[in-house]
Amino acid sequence: MRVAEMNREALEAFAADCKKQYEAFQAQGLKLDMSRGKPSPKQLDLTNGITNCLSEDDYKAENGLDCRNYGCLDGLPEAKAFFAPMLGVKPEDVIVCGNSSLNIMYWAMSLAMTNGVMGSKPWGKYDKVKVLCPVPGYDRHFAVSEFLGMELVNVPMKEDGPDMDIVEKLVAEDDTIKAIWCVPMYSNPGGVVYSDAVVKRFAALKPKAKDFRIFWDNAYCVHHLVDNPPVQANLLEEAKKAGNEDICYMFASTSKITHPGSGIAVIAASQNNLAYLKKALGFSTIGYDKMNQLRHLRFFGGKFENLVEHMKKHKALIAPKFQIVESTLEQELADLDIANWSNPQGGYFISFNQKGCAKRIVSLCKEAGVVLTGAGASFPHGVDPEDENIRISPTFPTEEELQKAMDVFVCAAKLAAAEQALAK
Ligand code: PMP
Repeated sequence: MRVAEMNREALEAFAADCKKQYEAFQAQGLKLDMSRGKPSPKQLDLTNGITNCLSEDDYKAENGLDCRNYGCLDGLPEAKAFFAPMLGVKPEDVIVCGNSSLNIMYWAMSLAMTNGVMGSKPWGKYDKVKVLCPVPGYDRHFAVSEFLGMELVNVPMKEDGPDMDIVEKLVAEDDTIKAIWCVPMYSNPGGVVYSDAVVKRFAALKPKAKDFRIFWDNAYCVHHLVDNPPVQANLLEEAKKAGNEDICYMFASTSKITHPGSGIAVIAASQNNLAYLKKALGFSTIGYDKMNQLRHLRFFGGKFENLVEHMKKHKALIAPKFQIVESTLEQELADLDIANWSNPQGGYFISFNQKGCAKRIVSLCKEAGVVLTGAGASFPHGVDPEDENIRISPTFPTEEELQKAMDVFVCAAKLAAAEQALAK
């Protein structure tokens, strides 16, 4: 029965029942963590071979370069060729970096603030600099811009990507808007795959600020949960067609492919952007970890197809976890009509919405020993205007732990809905 249709008596009985169940969970002294999208130890095990796949005398790149030594700022040629298909670009459009894409996104934005983009006035020299933040979105993106002193502007997400009518209007009118954060494939947390139409509208954007950049974070581009994953138009290619190739920086990493602590991050962009970025990069490093580039090349036999195959092993481990979350939500909450949630085809998150209840649910879960990402985390400054969104991260716990955590979660969601309805 829908909660909205329950009379007072039914509501009170429903609330009492939820409360009883909830107290029983509390009494179990649980300690479960679903707060961040981390791979599980079993997923990390899939890549254990990478730590010893180089023999002692295996340290030379194809061109004879000694990878143990300094140099080769933008990455080994064969590493560029290996990662190019991941971002859908040519090898020469890639810089192979260190272990974290967040780190290079931070660096690229910070560089724009201090030194501008391709010779423009530094963003930080303007009285006000704004960044568009599709919401719900990735908290660390928003935190980077906030930390660098930018003003965060919410843009609503639709089923096929950010609301492009709003994006186009805002960037055309306001030259203090210098950037937008995007996770185009399986967005964090909504799992949204931007449609080709949205990608093309991004590629053709005509911002008033000539130094505007799209921060295109393709963190989940190979992280599929379905057998026939969606295929997406490529931003850089479309931007080239539109004569707008300098508009974007594209990022990805192997964090959730190999090992997050010791993976490889990549950036792709137009040749103009790359020339500027490489020059700036040269002031901060003499070169990244080329032995790690070699390890990744050897582990995957130098072939991107092998990486794609490797992702199927991740899928086999995590798809059942997404299934547990989705079926528990469906079974326990669908009839009550109190919430909605995503059923993503890939990525690391399920986005759950229950109006006016997110904070209460997160706090009820916490008091019963289940830690979730903080309510509001997927919004700039942690402020969810509707207090509705919770990011569920199913990958880290075991299936048993996850089921338990979800049992607590749906119980908390019901109790919060009952309390809300009774308070009306
Ligand atoms: N981008 C997105 C959208 C993410 O969800 C994450 C990890 N949660 C990252 C970047 C972090 O990537 P990296 O480990 O390469 O810094």
